[in-house]
Amino acid sequence: MSTPYLTIDRVGKRYPQGGGVDEIDLSIPRGAMLVLLGPSGSGKTTLLRTIAGLVPADTGRILLGDRDITRVPVARRRVGMVFQTWALFPHMTAFDNVAFGLRMQKVPKAELTTRVEEALALVHLEDFAARLPRQLSGGQQQRVALARAIVTRPDLLLFDEPLSSLDHRIRLELRSQLRQIQHQLGLTGVYVTHDHSEALALGDDIAVMDQGRIVERGAPHAIFTRPTTRFTAEFLSTGTVLDVVSVHPRDGQAEVVTAAGLRFVLPRTGTDLEEITALSIPSRAIRVEPFDEAAPAGTAGLIEGEVSAVEYEQASLLCSIRLVDHPVILKSIQPLEREIGLGDRVRVWCNEDQVLPLR
Ligand code: ADP
Ligand code: MG
Repeated sequence: MSTPYLTIDRVGKRYPQGGGVDEIDLSIPRGAMLVLLGPSGSGKTTLLRTIAGLVPADTGRILLGDRDITRVPVARRRVGMVFQTWALFPHMTAFDNVAFGLRMQKVPKAELTTRVEEALALVHLEDFAARLPRQLSGGQQQRVALARAIVTRPDLLLFDEPLSSLDHRIRLELRSQLRQIQHQLGLTGVYVTHDHSEALALGDDIAVMDQGRIVERGAPHAIFTRPTTRFTAEFLSTGTVLDVVSVHPRDGQAEVVTAAGLRFVLPRTGTDLEEITALSIPSRAIRVEPFDEAAPAGTAGLIEGEVSAVEYEQASLLCSIRLVDHPVILKSIQPLEREIGLGDRVRVWCNEDQVLPLR
């Protein structure tokens, strides 16, 4: 692990009414983007605002480079911010909005002009410098806000759901531009979102939040393919989550019985057997075969079910299979070409190597 650049050390902030965050420990190296991912109310904005200095932390420390910024006022933290609503000055042109921070810093005129032009070019708005915010689309306004945040060359950039009020296509376009700019300039950032695909696309590192705490942290690929907590598996809907009633060691493996009566034999991973309270059955682990009268039930681990839903997801079909003998609906990802329809009788089989134990 490279040297931490931003370190959040046991930071806590409680509002008198009860909400807030507790004992947050996080760190990221320079040039990385940390995504705080969680449902509404999980404390993402509160944590971001303590990093910005907009809300004082009750406990803990925040270090940026070699500075302890815990008590440093917002204006002197050298952080740039982009929010959901762009909050541009309505009576100022795009150029003047971007120039604002540099004017406050008394940057000489020639340098100011160059830097503002560079920043506008970076977000592909060089031809829109003279427009007022109301003469720009939502996506363009958000790009002005981004240019305004980076033009002062802050040590850290903070984003609070900056794309959530834009429509889908613009959101995707801005998302990839943002990633490009972040890499190009080597910016260190913290990005708040409740959107899984945004987290996956933008994060070098993802911290999943629930009720004011970090429940899980890791690289995007690991978080999405191998969540270790029930909360993350359910929040990211990476598969079907089943409650576990008992776990027994058996021949170096683990026999796991679920509340719905399904039994799985899992390879024994590092997980402490006592800790397993649920299983995630990823939709890619479920094979679906047409029902065959001739084959007796239970053949080769096949379980009878009925297709209860078929949805399009990206370039695949996401099928829900209601099991006949268990109160369970399993999800299965199938190729788009597969002919499968609502009410089909099927048999499913699970690749147990892909089943994940959850805490
Ligand atoms: P998120 O950004 O993940 O939606 P927030 O950080 O905004 O979550 O909120 C976390 C919790 O703190 C929520 O329960 C919310 O109601 C509460 N909260 C947020 N801001 C304030 C505030 N200014 N005063 C009191 N409670 C707040
Ligand atoms: Mg928020």
